[in-house]
Amino acid sequence: MKQRTIAEPYRIKMIEPIKMTTREYREAKIREAGYNTFLLKSEDVYIDLLTDSGASAMSDWQWSGMFLGDEAYAGARNFFHLEKAVQEIYGFKHIVPTHQGRAAEHITSQIRIQRGQYVPMNMYFTTTREHAERAGGIFYDCIVDEAHDPASAHPFKGNVDLNKLQRLVDEKGANAIAYLSIAPCVNMAGGQPFSMANLREVAAWAKRYNLPIIFDATRAVENAYFIQQREEGYARKPVRAILREMMGYGEGCTMSSKKDNLVNIGGFLATNNEAFFVKAKEMVVVFEGLHTYGGLAGRDMEAIARGIYEMVDDAYIASRVRQVEYLGKRLQDAGIPIVIPIGGHAVFLDAKRFLPHIPQEQFPAQALAAALYVDSGVRAMERGIVSAGRDHTTGEHHKPKLELVRLTIPRRVYTNLHMDVVAESCQALYEEREKIKGLEIVYEPETLRFFQARFQEIGG
Ligand SMILES: *Cc1c(COP(=O)(O)O)cnc(C)c1O
Repeated sequence: MKQRTIAEPYRIKMIEPIKMTTREYREAKIREAGYNTFLLKSEDVYIDLLTDSGASAMSDWQWSGMFLGDEAYAGARNFFHLEKAVQEIYGFKHIVPTHQGRAAEHITSQIRIQRGQYVPMNMYFTTTREHAERAGGIFYDCIVDEAHDPASAHPFKGNVDLNKLQRLVDEKGANAIAYLSIAPCVNMAGGQPFSMANLREVAAWAKRYNLPIIFDATRAVENAYFIQQREEGYARKPVRAILREMMGYGEGCTMSSKKDNLVNIGGFLATNNEAFFVKAKEMVVVFEGLHTYGGLAGRDMEAIARGIYEMVDDAYIASRVRQVEYLGKRLQDAGIPIVIPIGGHAVFLDAKRFLPHIPQEQFPAQALAAALYVDSGVRAMERGIVSAGRDHTTGEHHKPKLELVRLTIPRRVYTNLHMDVVAESCQALYEEREKIKGLEIVYEPETLRFFQARFQEIGG
């Protein structure tokens, strides 16, 4: 039988109007924004799929918790609620709150990496890698090769390649490795999960060399859902139990609560390592605030604690991931080239195949994201040659294999009718794709250029 529909396990009781605009209006706005969707004003956007970070809708239970914020400087009750939630759901003993994920990465990297040590990661995330490198660490990619191929249908493209890990130990020795930084639902690979079997093998391997695993747990619940759906032996296990088992293979984690935890701001680091915890507590005071608030208001910690319980509801996580799948399937049915398998938080348009008439030096993904906004007011993000930046020594563009437009779905925010609007807009563009023109740069910042670069149409 065809898979039955799962509707959202909640109903809407407060709405936020969004602005409908005309094509002429949007043409003017994208020109003003230099064809860069980061430079659009949020109020000029109809459906905002720029990112899922901090864009979640909170529940009535979370909002009511916001009124119970204990705003004492030290020992606020909400900290203890957060600590209990992390202990129960993630299974780690100690927790240090931070204002968001990168602050937890900063503290972890500074304490756990010695200059010149390697930090193997399954692909990378921008801030995780940056903090590791600032601490003197050397990034080492240990993800399976399939992750770099947008057309590979491997169900667990987030898996670690044990041969790559072994090669590193054989060449450099285990002492040259700080820890394994393992991310569930790898963002830069398209939201692709690892399997529990792979994690089990990685953990057994790491134990042999006495190397700890510190998760970047940002999208661990989405990964747990994929394990439930795809891996033998997990179909009847609740996501909550799968997450607990997964985290059990690690010594600790860093976390951006702006993703899985269903809040607009926050993060934490958690660990079973007493000595690390003591050092992290010392350091958080310098950079974030006292160890019982870490840059967060009491009310924010309460919202995170409650979001942690809500995120492991099986019906919720199924509807969240299946909404992403719904959009992806609609695009596939229309013959539009996307990265497969469809990820846990986003659908990625393959701009190289979508716009074969635009060479990569004319920024096809940037042009496609701009055209999507003009067509329907949908905001997406470029993940291609603009994001990859330039080689610092030669000044040439890095030319990544993947030239993508990311359609990222915020949690509990849009309905599937919004997804239909997005799919129809992509389809309309695909039918008239040869009308989309390449772009040229008119302004380019030196670092992280994708945020602020400005473009114009070639011959426009
Ligand atoms: C967002 C994110 C981070 C950084 O978290 P912030 O809360 O944005 O600082 C780290 N890792 C991954 C995989 C992320 O998606």
